[in-house]
Parts: sequence; C-alpha cells; structure tokens
Amino acid sequence: MTIHNPNFVLMVEDLTVSFDGFKAVNDLSFYVEPNECRVIIGPNGAGKTTVLDLICGRTKATSGSVNFKGQELLKMREDQIVHAGVGRKFQTPSVYEDLTVFENLELSYPQGHGVFGALFFQRDDPVKTRIQEIAETIFLEDHLSEKAAYLSHGQKQWLEIGMLLIQDPELLMLDEPVAGMSVAERKKTAELLNRIINDRSVIVIEHDMGFVADIATRVTVLHQGKTLSEGSMERVQNDPKVIEVYLGH
Ligand code: ADP
Ligand code: MG
Repeated sequence: MTIHNPNFVLMVEDLTVSFDGFKAVNDLSFYVEPNECRVIIGPNGAGKTTVLDLICGRTKATSGSVNFKGQELLKMREDQIVHAGVGRKFQTPSVYEDLTVFENLELSYPQGHGVFGALFFQRDDPVKTRIQEIAETIFLEDHLSEKAAYLSHGQKQWLEIGMLLIQDPELLMLDEPVAGMSVAERKKTAELLNRIINDRSVIVIEHDMGFVADIATRVTVLHQGKTLSEGSMERVQNDPKVIEVYLGH
C-alpha cells in the first residue's frame, strides 16, 4: 500500500527512465513540501523536462516511485493524474488564440465545458467570480474580452497558468515559464508564483538565476539525470560541484 506522508506533497524515489539504454533520469529522488516552490535547474539535456514528463504520466518510467499525497502516479494515466490534482504547463504556450481570455478560462473551468456547464454558465455567478479572481491573479483582469491572439507572449504564458490555476491543482509544474518574457514580466511572474504557493506546491524548471532567486524555496540541480546538489539558492550557488558543471560557464 502507498502511504501518504503529510510532510510531503510529492515524494519522488529512485525514478529512472531509460531510452534505448540511455538513462535520461537516473535513480532520482527528491521530496516536495506543501507550499514549496521547488526550482529545478541544470544544463541542457540534464533531464529536467523528462522529470516533469514522468510525473505527469506523459512518459512511462522504467522504475521507481512517484508518490503524490499517497497515490502512486506511475500507475496512473495522464488524465487521472490531472484529476488527482497535478497541473503541468509545457514550454510553449497553448491557449486558444481565437477565443477571448474569458472564454479560455471558462473552457478550463472544471465541468465548465459540458452541456450542463454551458447551460448553467449564463447565470452561474460562482464561475464568473472564479474567472474574475483568476484574471486578477494573472494580471489580465482588464483583458477578459480580448482575443488571446492579441496578447503579448508573456500575457499568453500567464493565461495558460490561469487555465491551470482555475482547476485548483495541489501541485503545479511549469517548464521555463519566463522564457521570452521581459524583465518587468519576469518580476510580475515571480510575484504571481509567490502568491499562488500559499495554496499549493509548485515545481518550476528555470534558467534565469535572478528569477530563481526570487521564487525558490529550494533548488535541485540536475546533471545527467541525477541530483548534483540540493538546498537553498545560496547553498546551491556556493556548491563547488555546481559551479564546476553549471554556473561556472
Ligand atoms: P532538459 O529539459 O534538462 O534540457 P530533457 O529532459 O529534455 O533535458 O532531455 C534529457 C535527455 O533525454 C536528452 O539527452 C534528450 O535527448 C533525451 N530524451 C528526452 N526525451 C527522449 C525520448 N522520448 N526519447 C529519447 N531520448 C529522449
Ligand atoms: Mg527542457
């Protein structure tokens, strides 16, 4: 039986995936606490995206365990994992360009897109209220009736985060969310993440060390599918192993 240790939302243990003999993730273990923002850094090809693919069920692990609040995710399908409360954002934003910000959020609202959801929607104020709330969180409250196509790249990234937040996941995973954003947008994204971890845990893959410093509770440095170093930003930054393989160049 899988046990839920309340100290951790997510327990990744001995996780391994082998692609034709190449171990992209190699016996990896790490533990994420409630309300933690864990940042995964590491050189290109270190296995960062693959770790998220394994947790969300997109890639099948070769061995190991991913325990999310007592549920073994490695035995579950992608949609079951989403339903259990794990949201995942990919590197490129995938919003519906022809729909408004409001409609994009409405579509992502749980039960919002069934026949009954659509019928109820006309007068269902709780849904509207929730969309308004999310729009404020993602800095788009003044853009609700705008088509997503007209948003800036950064605003599209925020909208996609909003489309995940509206499902209220307990664990949110973001792959390089500030890539292509301006400095001002990065600052606002850091503010957004610091706010949303009051209600959930977040795993972020990121390269921008200034941004990492603004958001990280703890940092895991991945190298060749394994943990090279882990701890506070300061500890990791001063770790000679990390300086050698990553921050040094
Ligand atoms: P990162 O996100 O840290 O840059 P990735 O997780 O994307 O790295 O990739 C880690 C390694 O695994 C890379 O060498 C990549 O080529 C390889 N890889 C990732 N996915 C697959 C796959 N589906 N099949 C074969 N090799 C893969
Ligand atoms: Mg990647």
